Amino acid sequence: MNRRDFCRKSILGSLVFGASLLGLDRLGRLSPAYARSQAKEARHYQKLEDRKVWCQLCFRRCIITEGGRGFCRVRENRGGKLYSLVYGKPGGLQIDPIELEPMYHMLPGHRNLCVYTASCNFRCRHCHNWHITTQSPEGLRSMNYSPEEVVQETIRRGCKSISHSINEPTIFYEYMYDIAKLARAKGIKNLFHTNGAMRPEPLRVLLKYMDGVTVDLKAFDKKFYRKISSAKLEPVLKTLKIIREEGVHLEIVNLIIPTLNDELDKIKEMCNWIGDNLGEDVPLHFTRFFPAYKLTNLPYTPVKTLEAARSTGQKVGLKYVYIGNLPGHEGNNTYCPQCKTRLIHRIHFIVMSSNIKGGRCGFCEYKIPGIWDLEEP
Ligand code: SF4
Repeated sequence: MNRRDFCRKSILGSLVFGASLLGLDRLGRLSPAYARSQAKEARHYQKLEDRKVWCQLCFRRCIITEGGRGFCRVRENRGGKLYSLVYGKPGGLQIDPIELEPMYHMLPGHRNLCVYTASCNFRCRHCHNWHITTQSPEGLRSMNYSPEEVVQETIRRGCKSISHSINEPTIFYEYMYDIAKLARAKGIKNLFHTNGAMRPEPLRVLLKYMDGVTVDLKAFDKKFYRKISSAKLEPVLKTLKIIREEGVHLEIVNLIIPTLNDELDKIKEMCNWIGDNLGEDVPLHFTRFFPAYKLTNLPYTPVKTLEAARSTGQKVGLKYVYIGNLPGHEGNNTYCPQCKTRLIHRIHFIVMSSNIKGGRCGFCEYKIPGIWDLEEP
């Protein structure tokens, strides 16, 4: 089961708890009047003349006239001030193994509570979560959960971390930031899974409360970003460097889509860039594409393509190269770069065994990057 299936289960209500139905119409959507009454003034924007606002949160830097919304659909200009419409309004709170992010080098096998809302600031044609990311706040059934309540629920459910994921968390920045700050004080780990297009200033502010980040590096190709995701590559590369500069644990995901970003030369270029600019210790996940949303005409990624990509990454010196969305493949496991012994045996996102002791290989004591112990608050 992949994250998409988990999301579907969530939407059906199996993992969604405590929803308030106040303000929902018969289809379970937020009524526009209710959405208008619930909003939080945004951070990281500038006021302009004629009551326009200039959002500084992501690479798009939308200029929004009074009454209008940004490209992400969830930030609205009201009377010359910018507001987030999804603060305290998660589409669901979902409990998964941390590996599902994917995040393989952080407290393996523990329960993670995932927060998401409506919409996105990209428009990926292959989006696996399109039923969430294409919705405005009024179009997605949501719940009322303050940051304090999210943290309480995390503790009550025995989770050790909170992730902001499934849709792009940049667009619910204020909510994510407040949750992370409270969670840090309680000794809970924080992470987010992002498309990597947040602007540097809000990113550095947020990273002070983050323990890990998973970044989608969708392709090493400007044309792919423009044509497939309506986005840009450069901001993502900048984000990756900033995360390393700030010393926050980083993992990278590259979803390989047949015919669109599966050229081995390009993959090699990307792996070399990662090694040269971020370091050979950064875990890289090559994940399998499933036909979805507007790309149902393309096939699943062949196993051989994934294996060739992994082998390319290993040959240029990357130490932790994984294969995801392919349960039971040896590329699901973590191996010691020094003695080559299998350290974490995984089947998809389930951890079967671990031989990492105190952050080191249990056989040769080689130091493995990541977060392996939970300090007391
Ligand atoms: S966060 Fe939304 S409103 Fe702000 S710049 Fe990005 S797309 Fe535009």
